Amino acid sequence: MKITLQNLTKIFVSRHNKNELVTAVDDFNIELPDGKLIGLLGPSGCGKSTLLNLICGLEEPTEGKIFFEDIDVTNLAPEDRGVGMVFQNYALYPHLSVRANISFPLENLRGKDKLSKEEIERRVLETAKLVQIDELMERKPNELSGGQQQRVAIARALVKTPGVLLLDEPLSNLDARLRLQTREQIRRIQKETGITTVFVTHDQEEAMSISDMIIVMKSGKLQQMGLPQSVYNEPINLFVAKFLGTPAINVFDGYVKDKKVYVGEDCIMDKDIEDQEVYVAIRPEGFVPKKNGCLHCRFDRIEIMGRDTSIVCHHDKCISDEDIRTIVDSDIRIHHDGNSISFDLKENKTHIFSKKDENVL
Ligand code: ADP
Ligand code: MG
Repeated sequence: MKITLQNLTKIFVSRHNKNELVTAVDDFNIELPDGKLIGLLGPSGCGKSTLLNLICGLEEPTEGKIFFEDIDVTNLAPEDRGVGMVFQNYALYPHLSVRANISFPLENLRGKDKLSKEEIERRVLETAKLVQIDELMERKPNELSGGQQQRVAIARALVKTPGVLLLDEPLSNLDARLRLQTREQIRRIQKETGITTVFVTHDQEEAMSISDMIIVMKSGKLQQMGLPQSVYNEPINLFVAKFLGTPAINVFDGYVKDKKVYVGEDCIMDKDIEDQEVYVAIRPEGFVPKKNGCLHCRFDRIEIMGRDTSIVCHHDKCISDEDIRTIVDSDIRIHHDGNSISFDLKENKTHIFSKKDENVL
């Protein structure tokens, strides 16, 4: 199911101050392609849950429209939209078995949608198998691990074969190992069903690893949408550049003069734009240690983490929160005299942003 959002806006009266308005979703115009897993990404409070709630009908838009394929669903009740929803806290019925939790949405169907007992049983088992929970059907939720409970919640959302599946931070309550396992399960389930899925997370690594496409938002506004690798490689503004990637991108104060980009006194590259102040942002993997390289830093230490070798260093013009972190090939020869180290920079890993609006130049 293709989802189209048209001028979609949601304004709340602030919870803290009745005279203040909060624009939780600000004029979204996007198309979510059919059959894809879409990662919706942004810091806490940026409007991710509100956007999902608008799509499923739990919130009414202040302005704008929502289409599923060509059908305007803006005024449809949530139960008439064919959307499955999964929340962070699983929200299972504690007194019901796994089987009864999954069958619940089907038991409630009335009229022409009513299903026979056999049909319900067949669908429940099929869905339980899909999420690999079919051996635990008689257990109660409190007899399951967090990851298993979340799979039951996913099964319950899928059992009505919705056209759209919405997952709101489904992994946040799981420990690191279960998070990893469960996200692989979600990826697999999405692939097997081909259901258009929006997966909300504030964890960029999670979104990057399982999504076909990511959407980055900030303060209610769409920042960038695209393939995870394209958004990482070509961030359209400083916020997106900083939000994606671990270790984070390294940011420097810089300027352009006579078509050359400088960081302090170091001339790092040519760029055919007007003289101006800029931010220079360099991915950790964009630094190549080189004797007499273009960027001169103060050497701090070398850290070896598994396959990666990280050189930690400093530069007066670096404005990132922490030290400069580079990731270099472990078999490269690193020249340093204990005090200073210089690097050449990979051009495709070096991004220049305007100081005025923080957009890419
Ligand atoms: P996220 O899911 O990205 O953390 P939310 O969509 O929950 O963000 O919230 C976005 C903004 O809207 C926040 O400032 C939040 O306080 C506000 N907000 C969300 N729901 C309501 C509501 N029902 N009433 C008032 N403000 C709300
Ligand atoms: Mg939320």
